Amino acid sequence: MSAPLWDITALAVDAAVAETPMAVRARAALPEAAVTVLAPGDPLPQAPDGGRALHIKAHPGRFLRPCPATRHYRCCGYQIIHIGENCPMDCSYCILRAYFRDRTLTAFANTEAMFAELGRVFGRDPSRLFRVGTGQFADALALEPITGHTRELLGFLAGHPNVVLELKSKTADLSWMEADPDPKTVLPSWSLNAPVIVAAQERDTASLEARLSAAKACVRAGFRVCLHFDPICWFEGWEREYAATVDMIFDYLAPDDIAYISLGSFRCLPELPGRLMAEGRELPRYMLGEFTIGPDGKTRLLRPLRVRQLRFMARRLAGHGFSRGLYCCMESDEVWRAALGQAPRDLGGLAAHLLSRAHNPGGTRPCS
Ligand code: SF4
Repeated sequence: MSAPLWDITALAVDAAVAETPMAVRARAALPEAAVTVLAPGDPLPQAPDGGRALHIKAHPGRFLRPCPATRHYRCCGYQIIHIGENCPMDCSYCILRAYFRDRTLTAFANTEAMFAELGRVFGRDPSRLFRVGTGQFADALALEPITGHTRELLGFLAGHPNVVLELKSKTADLSWMEADPDPKTVLPSWSLNAPVIVAAQERDTASLEARLSAAKACVRAGFRVCLHFDPICWFEGWEREYAATVDMIFDYLAPDDIAYISLGSFRCLPELPGRLMAEGRELPRYMLGEFTIGPDGKTRLLRPLRVRQLRFMARRLAGHGFSRGLYCCMESDEVWRAALGQAPRDLGGLAAHLLSRAHNPGGTRPCS
């Protein structure tokens, strides 16, 4: 990572949340930042020295949302808690580039309202199991050393053992462990990619080695972990590169340490290449392949190429003894069958299958 607390040089706090624990923690974590308390309608201040601003505010809407899927693809039943917006890292394929035009980071400090909403949903029927994550529009842990958002959330979730929280990140931050959660209720999780993609296309993220070392530390502390290959990119030599990452996983982890692994071929909004070029960036070669527009309106590789990618990854992982917790992200039954030899219905439905692997009642190991 480029800097321990990113390049945040301004902290803007809405007056309504200025005394919340999160705002107090952020001030303490960013002692050098220029702090402004904003009255309603005040403009956000410019961050000095070409840095970024972190805006601490209240979120006025719903916090819990279903993961965006379409009726054409198999949905994994994941729900996302909205904790903030934008990311201090910079991946060329990131969908946030389409949503946010400036570099301001936002964190939502009205956690009491969030917990009231979550308590109503999770507490309605304690026998109903949930699989949730944080950060629909953000990395789950990038701001954790500053906001302590996840530590607060884990404290709340201690009273809701029917909920498993997945923490998906490209950092190696483990400060959330200070909340001392029950390892059965948290799935620390990392996005992985080919070494050449991590090096050239994932600016300011933790190295693959750092991500996998963090995963190993979690396993040693009793957690199972999840891994995500998303996006899998197509470029010359992609098999060799992705094989290297798959092999590296098992230098750090055993198959039973992993609750599940997702596979998703690169897809993007059609305007993403234009956005990158408008920033003066060279188009990455993986964006220059043979694409089509999917039923969700996104650009994606032609189906035979996606099947080749997914099948290759599945076989390489199976060679290391991992197969039962594998799933495809945003693919049809036809692609599932061609790549993995089975469709979600063969697993009893994807959402139910992942829920059972996530919850793993009565043990520290999935039933693989
Ligand atoms: S780490 Fe995730 S949220 Fe952040 S820029 Fe990369 S893809 Fe986007």
